[in-house]
Amino acid sequence: MKKETTVIKIGNILIGGGNRISIQSMTNTDTKNISATVAQIKELENAGVDIVRLAVLDEDAAIAIKAIKAQVSVPLIADIHFDHKLALKSMESGIDALRLNPGNIRNKENVKIVINEAKDRKIPIRVGVNGGSLDTTKYSHPTAENMLASASEHITLMEDLGFTDIKVSLKASDILTTIKVNELFREKYNYPLHLGVTEAGTLKSSLIKSTSALSYLLLNGIGDTLRYSITGNPVEEVLAGKKLLKFLEISKEPSIEIISCPTCGRTTSDIDYIASEVERLTLNIKKNIKIAVMGCIVNGPGEAKHADFGIAATNNNAFLFFEKDNAPIKIEANKVIEFLIDKINKF
Ligand code: SF4
Repeated sequence: MKKETTVIKIGNILIGGGNRISIQSMTNTDTKNISATVAQIKELENAGVDIVRLAVLDEDAAIAIKAIKAQVSVPLIADIHFDHKLALKSMESGIDALRLNPGNIRNKENVKIVINEAKDRKIPIRVGVNGGSLDTTKYSHPTAENMLASASEHITLMEDLGFTDIKVSLKASDILTTIKVNELFREKYNYPLHLGVTEAGTLKSSLIKSTSALSYLLLNGIGDTLRYSITGNPVEEVLAGKKLLKFLEISKEPSIEIISCPTCGRTTSDIDYIASEVERLTLNIKKNIKIAVMGCIVNGPGEAKHADFGIAATNNNAFLFFEKDNAPIKIEANKVIEFLIDKINKF
């Protein structure tokens, strides 16, 4: 049973209160480089991101937000550490939300200035506690309890100033601590939670770590928005997030599902390439179609029949194409991708 949470609004996206779970990512360009940052945000938009975060390291980056925002449509979050002036400048540039830990701004008057400005502009703030960057002078180990205590400090600072437009993330770099700290938080607070495993590693490690932690939490009704942290191209983060929500049947958005066999010695074609290409080419098609890409005609046809369309490699550089109960059609291997895409477009 999902516990009721407060709702925040980032641009046109509502987070918490049972709203759709949104997918976030973060650019890895230099935010001052407006054209590169816009290009990457557009790639993320194309992949289906809901919200994008940008690192704001200096004044030029905060100023660049205005020009970036004018060229993209997804809401943007400024990621700021320590310097309250960057938060103010980012808000002036039209940022939709901030990721900032008020306890890290040394001067409490400056905290007040930022919080009041955010309140006036209705700009939400995410408190983001990461296991690896806990204040070691206060907390010796990044345990779930210490992470929660750190988040509580930041939250209290804001609540004391009458600010509750808050979202929180509690990310450890391991599965079990991430699960525990989010469970502890949810028992104590009803602010929306941004889920993620921090420094989760390269694609394979992150997929395993993030999927394990996020699946557990989401299936237990915890989590309102999410980010996969993956070293490398952030587009992968968005694709992973979308797949997770689809496979957990949380997202009802129509999409193409590709089932492909693991391949074995019977395979006579490059199934990895074909399945990946079909996936890439159908990324933005909003139709519920299941496609089976199978490596042989021993087991392939059986599986393929359970999909809307299926292909199974034969021994002579060709595929058999299956469509429900129709008799299979033989397609040359070098034409099979084009043939499938055409079928999908006409579906
Ligand atoms: S479908 Fe054929 S090629 Fe693919 S794993 Fe099964 S037996 Fe091997």
